[in-house]
Amino acid sequence: MQASINGSGMTSARTRERLIQRLMEHGIQDLRVLEALRHVPRHLFMDEALASRAYEDTALPIGFGQTISQPYIVARMSEVLMSVSPHKVLEIGTGCGYQTAILANLVDEVFSIERIGGLYERARRNLQPLQLHRLRLRLGDGYQGWPSQAPFDAILVTAAPPQIPPALLQQLADGGLLVIPVGGGGSQRLLAVRREGDEFHEELLEMVSFVPMLGGEQR
Ligand code: SAH
Repeated sequence: MQASINGSGMTSARTRERLIQRLMEHGIQDLRVLEALRHVPRHLFMDEALASRAYEDTALPIGFGQTISQPYIVARMSEVLMSVSPHKVLEIGTGCGYQTAILANLVDEVFSIERIGGLYERARRNLQPLQLHRLRLRLGDGYQGWPSQAPFDAILVTAAPPQIPPALLQQLADGGLLVIPVGGGGSQRLLAVRREGDEFHEELLEMVSFVPMLGGEQR
């Protein structure tokens, strides 16, 4: 049976609401972000076999060795990003498109890059029924950013590079914010980097565990 937008049982609005309560208990406060998480049906972004676990606060496999991020992390990164009230946002690592859909509910324009063809196609299929406007997906290497659309008010990266890709810093607008997990191995530093003119101010948000960002100089 095809999963419905509204869901039922383990994917119902009530189950979803329990997740929202949990996120609030864990310190997520931005009402716009909580509303976006309430609104976007996470179960539609994953395989049917895993859909019943969509509203657990955990990362889950989406194929190609990648994962859909944990809802708390999606909420936390979105909340930090919203602190600069961005209009135009670049996301690196579309994956299944869930974080992309959350962003598209929060800001005016979203650009998102994915390097695996199968996931790019999957995100396109997942996002199409939501009829989100001013959203553009691209298949490519996020290390280069999206120069023809720069500058961005905010950039969100959902895979971890060993170092911050310079192109992403260059494509930040003045006053813009880059939210990115940095480092190798199982644990990385989630950083918020704020641009002020030619200066970049880094803040450590917390330790996180993302899949590695591939491509760029690693190729
Ligand atoms: N936000 C996604 C997270 C997916 S996991 C979700 O919630 O579904 C991270 C994603 O980053 C994977 O899909 C992976 O293929 C992608 N990725 C890794 N390196 C990349 C690169 N250099 N450019 C673009 N995408 C990349």
